[in-house]
Amino acid sequence: MLVGLLDPVEGVGAFLGCLLGIVLTPDLDMIAISLAEWGMVKKLGPLGFFWMGLWYFYARVIPHRSPWSHWPVLGTAIRLAYCTALLVIIWVILGRPALPIMPVWGLALLHGWVKGLVVSDAAHFILDLPLKRKKGKK
Ligand SMILES: [Zn+2]
Repeated sequence: MLVGLLDPVEGVGAFLGCLLGIVLTPDLDMIAISLAEWGMVKKLGPLGFFWMGLWYFYARVIPHRSPWSHWPVLGTAIRLAYCTALLVIIWVILGRPALPIMPVWGLALLHGWVKGLVVSDAAHFILDLPLKRKKGKK
């Protein structure tokens, strides 16, 4: 995957996607408070709790470390679909305001952003592997 090697806008998007992977982590499937969620609460206060509340349903439905949340690409796609559903609900609650037209470079930025998030999730998946093996041994 040539993340942003040819297009600087896509590269910026990939960088932002990797950064976003810190808070939009596969561990949002945990019912207990994850490390990333604690970080959000510490830095953002009540907004951090709001963030945790947004992901409560996701954590209830998807078992922790299941392929639905932790497999790269699949887990990323499901989390992005969940985010999209949340945004649509918020948009409807706000009275369906007119959406701005996306500039041409916005698509490249979004494309890179998704790639960066997939890379972040893949790194998370790899870092979780020793934990999975340890659990499986018993
Ligand atoms: Zn994990």
